[in-house]
Amino acid sequence: MPSSDVGAEAHDVVIVGTGFASSFFLLGYLERASPDARIIVLERGRRNDHAWQIEHRANSDVVAADLFQRRGDPDKNWNFTIGFGGGSNCWWGNTPRMLPADFELQSRFGIGTDWPLSYDDLAPHYERVEREMEIAGPADSSPFPRRGPYPQPPHRLNEAERLLKRAYPGQFFATPTARARLPARSRGTCCANGVCNLCPVDAKFTIQNSLAHLYEDPRVTLLLGAEALAVETAAGRATGVVCRHQDRETTVLGDLVVLGANALFNPAILLRSGLHHPLLGRRLHEQVGLLAEVHLDGVDGFQGSSSVTGHGYMLYDDDTRRRTKAACLIETWNVGTFRPNYGRWLQALPLRLVFEDLPQDRNRVELSLDPPGRPVATFEERSEYAMRAVRDIGPDLERVLAPLPVERVVIEAAPEPTESHVQGTTVMGDHPDSSVIDRFCIHHGIRNLVVLGAGAFPTGSPANPTLTLCALSLWSVDHLLSSAA
Ligand SMILES: Cc1cc2nc3c(=O)[nH]c(=O)nc-3n(C[C@H](O)[C@H](O)[C@H](O)COP(=O)(O)OP(=O)(O)OC[C@H]3O[C@@H](n4cnc5c(N)ncnc54)[C@H](O)[C@@H]3O)c2cc1C
Repeated sequence: MPSSDVGAEAHDVVIVGTGFASSFFLLGYLERASPDARIIVLERGRRNDHAWQIEHRANSDVVAADLFQRRGDPDKNWNFTIGFGGGSNCWWGNTPRMLPADFELQSRFGIGTDWPLSYDDLAPHYERVEREMEIAGPADSSPFPRRGPYPQPPHRLNEAERLLKRAYPGQFFATPTARARLPARSRGTCCANGVCNLCPVDAKFTIQNSLAHLYEDPRVTLLLGAEALAVETAAGRATGVVCRHQDRETTVLGDLVVLGANALFNPAILLRSGLHHPLLGRRLHEQVGLLAEVHLDGVDGFQGSSSVTGHGYMLYDDDTRRRTKAACLIETWNVGTFRPNYGRWLQALPLRLVFEDLPQDRNRVELSLDPPGRPVATFEERSEYAMRAVRDIGPDLERVLAPLPVERVVIEAAPEPTESHVQGTTVMGDHPDSSVIDRFCIHHGIRNLVVLGAGAFPTGSPANPTLTLCALSLWSVDHLLSSAA
């Protein structure tokens, strides 16, 4: 559709982005919108389908690193995908929920900030997202309260994981994942080859393989190659989105504006819109990931039926620990390098140790002056809370791994440059002075502007964020449509 046509029309909703946050919002919106509703979705990237991605061995034709600048810690990176479906193209599909305590760090442990909503508020929406993604998850019990079994049975654990399960029945679980265990509606079954960012059999949930139908709904217009630049406002209301499409700038009009461009670009769009707030762009953070490998005596790893099959909570929800140092989620893997010992190649268990980080104001997204308006992600350092836990991991792990026949544990010296989770920057809260958006992801100042995604997270738990941010989108749209009814 030419830009001039788009600019002339009025829409009920303008949505920015086609990733998880926007697509789950659209899913909830379409279910209750009238037959004559008019929704336009602006997507900056192109639609590179699964076949294109496999052929080009890439998730996108856009190099994400070219779209923003980095400052501060030179080793700190941020990772995401531009294009139809956003990060669903490259994600690995791990989908733990946050624990109830993760929403209440301040009241329970005296650190960080409480979320303005509780686990129970989000629980029905978690369940809905898990159904849509056909999550394979533990059949026995789970570390967080949930009703009934997961849509799919759990992936098979490897031998070392089965020993951990026996030793820690209430703290070690099969990883909940969007990598199919059984053939799913529109996906193959996981083949456990560990290249999940480019899944060769299309076994993980993606927007392209499971929610593309939303964009074919006659009420929806999808505009590819349309970069949202700013939200236009008048008299305290959003009136539309200024975007660049086909080398022209145009304003797409709408009664409701929804930003789902991720936690790097949402704050950039808001800053360009002149919607300043002391916390806008601040508290950029993600988990701290540390790789380790456990060499075992006579016990094999690597026979699990997916890439990441185990989640250990032994260093996570402990009251004493969390008052002083970060919770750690222990991921146990079936991919990684084999052990360099003849005849004992498989006697190893690769780990990814995922620590929560406490958001800090000085880690931030701003706009550059040259070129003007480009996002700059400045990351000074991780919190002492996280790094204390990282420093203590040797003895902590020795204790946790005691039930296994461990020969040695090799822990990487430094954390990974990124966990590929961009969080913070448009934080939610009850008070306009101390948060950018409210508990329903609605901008405190502009009440018809919704800002979705993990930017809303006041604190980030060790859990991967995507299931939670999708549940937040459903919670937000549910509120908007209920209060409008
Ligand atoms: C390699 C990798 C592995 C991951 N694995 C996991 C995992 O196992 N579990 C998990 O929970 N999370 C994982 N993640 C993180 C996950 O991808 C993100 O949490 C998720 O994609 C965020 O969803 P979102 O919709 O907020 O943003 P995105 O998915 O980033 O979507 C943003 C959308 O907006 C578009 N866009 C951006 N700017 C503009 C603009 N100005 N105008 C118009 N459109 C715009 C983008 O093209 C994109 O479509 C992984 C990420 C990576 C990179």
